[in-house]
Amino acid sequence: MFSPASSLYFHFPFCESKCHYCDFYSLGREKTEAGDADRFEVALIREIELRGKRGEIAKVPDTIFLGGGTPSMTPPESMERIFRALSEFCSPNENTEWTMEANPSSISLEQFKAYRGLGINRVSMGVQSLKNDHLLKLGRVHNENAALTALDTLFSAGMTNVSTDLLCGVPGQTTDDLKDHLERLTNFPIKHLSIYLLTLPSHHKMYPDLPKDDEQLKHLLFIDEFMRKKGFEHYEISNFAKPGFRARHNLAYWTGSSYLGFGPSAHSYSAEARARFKNLSSLHRWADRLLVENELPVEWTEELNDEQLDLEKWMLALRLETGFPVEWLKTPRQLEKSKHLLLEGLIERHPAHADRFRATPRGFALSDTLIRELS
Ligand code: SF4
Repeated sequence: MFSPASSLYFHFPFCESKCHYCDFYSLGREKTEAGDADRFEVALIREIELRGKRGEIAKVPDTIFLGGGTPSMTPPESMERIFRALSEFCSPNENTEWTMEANPSSISLEQFKAYRGLGINRVSMGVQSLKNDHLLKLGRVHNENAALTALDTLFSAGMTNVSTDLLCGVPGQTTDDLKDHLERLTNFPIKHLSIYLLTLPSHHKMYPDLPKDDEQLKHLLFIDEFMRKKGFEHYEISNFAKPGFRARHNLAYWTGSSYLGFGPSAHSYSAEARARFKNLSSLHRWADRLLVENELPVEWTEELNDEQLDLEKWMLALRLETGFPVEWLKTPRQLEKSKHLLLEGLIERHPAHADRFRATPRGFALSDTLIRELS
């Protein structure tokens, strides 16, 4: 049983086709059958009803995030039925940050005007690259022109709070490529940019071509400098925002707040219960559990012990620009290590809060080292 959660996540598992690097639970069109999308909608509504009747949804959610997969493949009429079910249990208002993830291949003016009318007020679009051969290599279905046209369309549809996702560490990508992509994206009035490092398992065919650590570090430091000059705050390892536009939903994850997930493979976290939950990662098993057994589709639950919570606390704090309070450095080992990290320029005193330390841009890029040394 969850205390009412004010951050809600909905996982929409459908995609045009599966990208070569993707490890989210998502199904390309070739893996779906007629009727899957309808059954998904009915099952999602059942999940909302089950959670809502248990009093687990806050009356006024602070954030709603529609992720996936590609939620922008869901027709507005279907989205409206889902939101109507949700409105039985909560009343999002104009202060609710209501984000939809979108891909350039599924963006049209009419559709986004309709989503805006339903209350969605933030869009996070997966651009990933503005170079066609890199997009092809990644298995993306859009090209450079489609990404730029889609961005234009989002603004024309009245979406003013737009974030874009880029990938760095793509084999063959150069600093000039990144400069070009960042320049073209920041020429739009975007408010937020996420840049994720491409990570692949060692058996992946592109793995041997991934850039070496020093090349990656050079790129990450370049991105940090470029985005700061453009007026963005580097507020989390992979995220940049114009002042006032940090992603509140993701901040709930990163600051250890509770969140409730719906849909196949969705995760939830209850801060009160100190426990994580994960839904079944199969559209059919998830839907059967809800529609046939009329049960919550939870696959596993994990209660976190003190040691796990402590590690998590460090991992989250070292991701964020706000850093951690000085009093977290307790043991002689932590005090000694922190001195070295300060000398090496990987952490620094927070310029606005003398009682806190934080990772420097170089520290962000080497965060695994920081976590290992300080936790
Ligand atoms: S669009 Fe996103 S979720 Fe879908 S397959 Fe590609 S990376 Fe995965």
